Amino acid sequence: MNDLIDLRSDTVTQPTEAMRRAMAQAVVGDDVYGEDPTVQQLERDSAAMLGKEAALFVSSGTQGNLIAMLTHCPRGSELICGDKAHVVVYEAGGMSALGGIMPRTVKVYPDGHLDLDDIRRAIRPDDQHFPRTRLICLENTQGTMGGMPLSAEYTDAVGALAREHGLRLHIDGARIFNAATALNTSVAALSRAADSVTFCLSKGLCAPVGSVLVGDKAFIAEARRVRKMLGGGMRQAGVLAAAGLIALHEMTKRLDEDHANAAYFAEGLSEIPHIRVESQATNFVMFWLSESAKHSPASFEHAMQAEGVVLRPYPGYTHKYRAVMHYWIKRHHVEHTLAALRRVLA
Ligand SMILES: *Cc1c(COP(=O)(O)O)cnc(C)c1O
Repeated sequence: MNDLIDLRSDTVTQPTEAMRRAMAQAVVGDDVYGEDPTVQQLERDSAAMLGKEAALFVSSGTQGNLIAMLTHCPRGSELICGDKAHVVVYEAGGMSALGGIMPRTVKVYPDGHLDLDDIRRAIRPDDQHFPRTRLICLENTQGTMGGMPLSAEYTDAVGALAREHGLRLHIDGARIFNAATALNTSVAALSRAADSVTFCLSKGLCAPVGSVLVGDKAFIAEARRVRKMLGGGMRQAGVLAAAGLIALHEMTKRLDEDHANAAYFAEGLSEIPHIRVESQATNFVMFWLSESAKHSPASFEHAMQAEGVVLRPYPGYTHKYRAVMHYWIKRHHVEHTLAALRRVLA
């Protein structure tokens, strides 16, 4: 990594030395022919860890979610998701553009959950006027609300509601390992009510590329076809899966360090003038720069960058910031950042 302390996102993480070595040495084959043993191992291990029958290695979380939605939902059908869900805000309208799927959004509460009654009311009755509801999508952790983890009990309740109405449940679990770590539970428990789950090997788990979609065998067989249709069939992808295996088996075990750093950062921030902490959950800290600060947001960011710290406003806001902790942000970086903030805002 370069010398800057980049707090914008855990997407900026670079692969570890162990990953780079594993990538160089990976045994590979043509994965579209089903001949890449490293991809197959990643898919087997991912399915086992999330308690599902099968898995599919995909190029990104967006692609994994899109494949899941296209596989679950026929054209003209509807899915229910949060009004701040990644699938509806940050995925370029893919479900509609490529799948002819209508999103029906319900409010996301500050702790990241959707209200069960709101979901129930959004399910369409069987009537020729209405699109058919097919799918409910949850997001764990809920990114836009500040990395909020959803519990297994809550997910189970949404799963029960889905089954009661003959619907499927998909979880966008881009950071589901952060959720499991924060809640001291397993990703299998957080996934047991879902028909499919996507999770990212990049982000906090540090793999350079890749996500995994899990589900039952029949679902994954169909998803594999959809992946090919979208141009996502990859050949010697074992070089990427090799980093993914380290992400899955090693990097998932150390996320509590990032959460502790986030808590430490939030605590330090709360004592700095002209800053108001909005929330801290998992590896995210959301905070506001006060209008009373001597800096405008632009000059604040410039002054922080001169101190070696990269911060950017949260999309759609001028004074709201999100700091994200990850493997490359160590405790001394957090301490440096707090000292820099004290200097810049003094
Ligand atoms: C990052 C992320 C994704 C997937 O993003 P890609 O950049 O396509 O890998 C999906 N959902 C959430 C909540 C995310 O944070």
